[in-house]
Amino acid sequence: MKIRRLITICALLALLVCLFSCEKQDELPSDTTTLGSEEKTDELQETEREELEECPSPDDHEYAEESRVDALALKEGEIKYGCTKCKSEYTESIPATKSLKILALGNSFTDDSTWHLWNICKSAGVEEVIVGNLYVGNCTLDQHWSYISTSKNPYIYRKTTDGKRVDNENFRAVDALQDEDWDFIVLHQTSGSAGQASTYSKLSFIFKFIDAKATNPNVKVIWHMPWAYQGDSTHAEFPKYDRDQQKMYETIVARVQEIIIPEDKISAIIPSGTAIQNLRTSYVGDNVTRDGYHLNYGFGRYTAGLTWYAVLTGGDVDAPDWIPPEYPEVAAYLSAIREAVKGAMANNFSVTPSKIKTAEDGFDLSGYELLEWNYNKNGWWNCKDSLTITYPSSTNGTYNQNICTDRKYSIEELPIGTIFVCDYGWRVRIEQYPTENEKYDGARHGGCIYPFFVLSEEFLNGCTYVAWSVSSWPKTDISADFDAAYPHVRVYVPVN
Ligand SMILES: [Zn+2]
Repeated sequence: MKIRRLITICALLALLVCLFSCEKQDELPSDTTTLGSEEKTDELQETEREELEECPSPDDHEYAEESRVDALALKEGEIKYGCTKCKSEYTESIPATKSLKILALGNSFTDDSTWHLWNICKSAGVEEVIVGNLYVGNCTLDQHWSYISTSKNPYIYRKTTDGKRVDNENFRAVDALQDEDWDFIVLHQTSGSAGQASTYSKLSFIFKFIDAKATNPNVKVIWHMPWAYQGDSTHAEFPKYDRDQQKMYETIVARVQEIIIPEDKISAIIPSGTAIQNLRTSYVGDNVTRDGYHLNYGFGRYTAGLTWYAVLTGGDVDAPDWIPPEYPEVAAYLSAIREAVKGAMANNFSVTPSKIKTAEDGFDLSGYELLEWNYNKNGWWNCKDSLTITYPSSTNGTYNQNICTDRKYSIEELPIGTIFVCDYGWRVRIEQYPTENEKYDGARHGGCIYPFFVLSEEFLNGCTYVAWSVSSWPKTDISADFDAAYPHVRVYVPVN
């Protein structure tokens, strides 16, 4: 009898342990939160059903919805049905919606993230895309709540429905919220506050506002995790993170894990901060912003946009092939951008180091030929001032930092799509001439200090000749070794 009682106690203990661990599994995974994870819709658990007898005949099955994964714009969903009387089950797929309507309640960081989003989604096959951003510069959650609760209208409501962004000024949050049947509302805390737990207290009020006012009863709330500043950023709030980029990244991640992940109202995290941090481990380095904290207009914004696309549509990161026409160099950055976004999707909250360590590693050079160009020392081109190379009277002082091509090149020699690769620490300044012996009367290009510059129609503006000068950047005196400049700028010419 004693042994029997012991066995009973052991069995009960085992059951308790099992129940406890089953409960644990129902919690959100701590590392990755993405849309499309399974939601149980029925009380019936698989373990309970296994104990039931098989139904005597197929006609006896009584199926009920057991779990559901909602479809996304580019990803099928599925509904699992299980028989309430036996183990039998089947799955029905829900077709991808091909439609995405998102509204961000944000600031300039969500501006950066959504700038290219419409085109990225379209090029991947989303048929209907509506992107909205409620913008107030540096707006915190507290400020958003204050504007919402007092019905104030300080927002610029940027809305893109057909590829053209329209700015609607003096908007109230509620009017934008009810302007469309949004699929997703994206929330975001300012970069300066995102690391401080005390700044999230209004979140529950904002959730209630969305519940009460959104016109789509199935609207999902998404959290956007911002990126850390550039290491040398002069942003006024950088001292909150001891002016330490890594510390800023880790602090923001920690707050998301502590405060956002446990929130039932949040359906997914957009890990832009991790995607940007991943990109910084590639050859791009810590050169992703335009002012120390806002993303640069081309590949910086594209990286955040692609991260939003991946989370919100469930689409393949490699699918979008649209390149912003005004930033053609994004094409050359694309492999590093995609690698960074895939890493962030796989590991939302930790850095995945890049394997792309040089600019040339990042793209396929098989269709290009490296140009050997001859250079003159201590001289430069200026397409607005002169048709010939300018040589300073002295080899020292402020004007001694350039080498330049020994002649102009025609666009027959360097066609559209020619790629200039410029190493960090150097600048290539490309000059353009309408014809070989005509000065240019448009705006002179400021020079490229990023790895890639791609010769485009937009840049040439009707010109048919180019020449270029190379200097160190920031400017230093390189007169002792002009030859050292040459290998830092490489020109790849497309070959047919
Ligand atoms: Zn059955």
